[in-house]
Amino acid sequence: ILLCCSAVTKAAEYMKYKDPKVPIKARVEDLLRRMTLEEKIGQMSQIERLNATSDVLKNYFIGSVLSGGGSVPSPLATAETWVEAINKMQKAAVSTRLGIPIIYGIDAVHGHNNVYKATIFPHNVGLGATRDPNLVKRIGQATALEARATGIPYVFAPCVAVCRDPRWGRCYESYSEDTTIVKQMTEIIPGLQGDVPKDARKGVPYVAGGRNVAACAKHYVGDGGTHNGINENNTIIDFRALLKIHMPPYYDAVAKGVSTIMVSYSSWNGVKMHANRFLVTHFLKNKLRFRGFVISDWQGIDRITSPPGSNYTYSVQASINAGVDMIMIPYNYPEFANDLTSLVKNKDIPISRINDAVRRILRVKFTMGLFEKPYADPSLAGQIGAQEHRELGREAVRKSLVLLKNGKLSFKPVLPLPKKSNKILVAGTHADDLGFQCGGWTISWQGQSGNNITAGTTILNAIKSTVDPTTKIVFSKRPRAVDVKSGKYDYAIVVVGEPPYAETAGDNTNLTIPAPGPSIIRNVCKNVKCVVILISGRPLVVQPYIAMIDAFVAAWLPGTEGQGVADVLYGDYGFTGKLARTWFKLVDQLPMNIGDKNYDPLFPFGFGLTTKPRK
Ligand code: BGC
Repeated sequence: ILLCCSAVTKAAEYMKYKDPKVPIKARVEDLLRRMTLEEKIGQMSQIERLNATSDVLKNYFIGSVLSGGGSVPSPLATAETWVEAINKMQKAAVSTRLGIPIIYGIDAVHGHNNVYKATIFPHNVGLGATRDPNLVKRIGQATALEARATGIPYVFAPCVAVCRDPRWGRCYESYSEDTTIVKQMTEIIPGLQGDVPKDARKGVPYVAGGRNVAACAKHYVGDGGTHNGINENNTIIDFRALLKIHMPPYYDAVAKGVSTIMVSYSSWNGVKMHANRFLVTHFLKNKLRFRGFVISDWQGIDRITSPPGSNYTYSVQASINAGVDMIMIPYNYPEFANDLTSLVKNKDIPISRINDAVRRILRVKFTMGLFEKPYADPSLAGQIGAQEHRELGREAVRKSLVLLKNGKLSFKPVLPLPKKSNKILVAGTHADDLGFQCGGWTISWQGQSGNNITAGTTILNAIKSTVDPTTKIVFSKRPRAVDVKSGKYDYAIVVVGEPPYAETAGDNTNLTIPAPGPSIIRNVCKNVKCVVILISGRPLVVQPYIAMIDAFVAAWLPGTEGQGVADVLYGDYGFTGKLARTWFKLVDQLPMNIGDKNYDPLFPFGFGLTTKPRK
C-alpha cells in the first residue's frame, strides 16, 4: 500500500511552472529553483541546426537552435520539411527532465527569406523610403505568419542600425541614415510580436500568440557608425552622439516590448560590444529597464580578443559578465559549457548573473506560450508566399521606389510611360533576375543570381504583363550600341545594379555601378529615350551618367514582387518614395549625412519626385 501511494503522490506532484494560470514571474522562479547549473547553462546556449541532434539537445539541455545565415534543411524545403525538422528537435527538448522547450531562431530580415517560395519584401533601405510605418508593421505581421508556418517562433529582426556610411556592406539592412526614420520603422516590432498591451510594464517582452513571433532588435549598438563603414569595425564617437544617433531606436524597441536584443560585432571606442558591461548591463538592462534577453551575434564572443593572449574562457567570462544572456555559439557548445561551468564554480562569474540570464530566457519562453504550445501549428502551412502577402510586397515595392529624375526637360516628364507603344527595349543584367532583385539574405546568406532561386515576378515579366498586348517587347541583357541605334524603339528600360552580397562581403570603397552596368547605360541611353532602374543596396556613383539618362529610379532591393515596379512605371500608381539616404556625388565625400556642415549631395536626403496615377 505504501509503495502504491508514494508512487501516486509522485505522479501527481504539482509543477507550478507548468500551470498556465500561474503568473509568469512565479512560473519563472519555480522553474529556476528546480534547475541545475548544467541545465541553466544549456538554456544560455544557442547552437546551429546542423548540430542539433536529439542527443545533443538532451545531453546539453540546449535552450535554443538557429538556422545561421540561411542554413536550411534543403534549398527547396517545403513548410512541411521545416516543421518536421523543428518538431523533432522540440520533441527532444521537451522530453528532458524539466521539459523546457527550445526557441528556434532564424534571420527573417525581409520576409521569411530562407524559405523557398516565401514572400520576399524589399530590404530595409527600400522600406525607409516608403516613410510608411504602418506598411512596415503589416510586413512584420506577414513575416511572422510565414515564419510560424515553418514552426519558427523567433526571428533575428529588425536591424535598427542607423547606417551613416553606404560603404558598409550592411547598409541595405538599415532603414535610414536618419535616426527618426529608423525609430518610426520599429513599428515592425508590434507587427512581428503583436501590440504590447496598454497596461504592460515598460521593457517587459511581449508576444501576442501563435501567429506572432519573438523579435530581435540588432545590432546593439552603433553598428551603422563604424569607421569608414567597415563591417564589424570600431565606432568612434562620444557618448552624447551615440545616444543621439544610434541609441534612440532601442528606446522604441524596448517600449514596444521587443523580446530580444542582439549585440553588435562592432566596438565602441575600442571596446567590443560583446564585452561592454556599461552599455549592455548598466544602460540597456538597468537604465532602459529591458527585461527580455540579450543574445550574442554568431561567434560574437569568440572575437573578444583583448587583453592580449586571451582565450575562449576569457571571452565567455567577459561576455557573460558584460550581460549577454544567450550565446550564439554556434558549434563549440561543449567547450562553452565546460568553460562557463568552471567560471561559475571559481566565482569568476557570479551565480546571480547566470540566474538573471536564465530568468530572462524563460520569461520570453513563458510569455510566448512555448510551454503550452511547443509545436508548429499545422493550420498555418498555407501562409508561405500567400497571395495577400505578395500583394503587400507589391505595395511595398511601389512605395519604396524613389524617382530621382523624370525627363531631361522639366516640362516634359517621361514617366509614367504609355502602356501602348510599337516597340520597346528592356535591357540590363537585372531586368530578368529574381535573385538580383532580392539581394543578400535570400535563400542563402549571400543571396544568388537567377530566376529559379524562388518564386516571384521579375521586372521584365512585370512589364510584359502590364503593357498593352500589341506592344512589342525586345529583351537584351547586354545590348550593343549599334543594335539599339538600328532598333527603332519608342523607349528603353534599363535595369542594372549590384550583385547580391551580405555583411563584410558587401563592404565597398568605390561604390561604382558594377560592370557591365555602365556600358549598358551608355549603349542604350545615348541612342534612345531611356529609363534607368537601379537595383542596389545603397546609392551608387551615378553622376557620370545622369545627364544621358531620361528618367532615373532607385529601386533598392525590391524582393520577389517586381510587379510593383511596373505598377508605378506605367502609372497605375504614382511615385511617392523619398530618399532615406543621402545620394552622394563622389565617394570622397563619405561619410556625408543630412545635417552635416559640408552637405553637397547629388540628391539630398528626402528628395523624390512624384507622379500622379493615370486615370
Ligand atoms: C549576423 C546577424 C545574424 C546572425 C545569425 C551574423 O553573422 O551579423 O545579423 O542574425 O549572423 O545568422
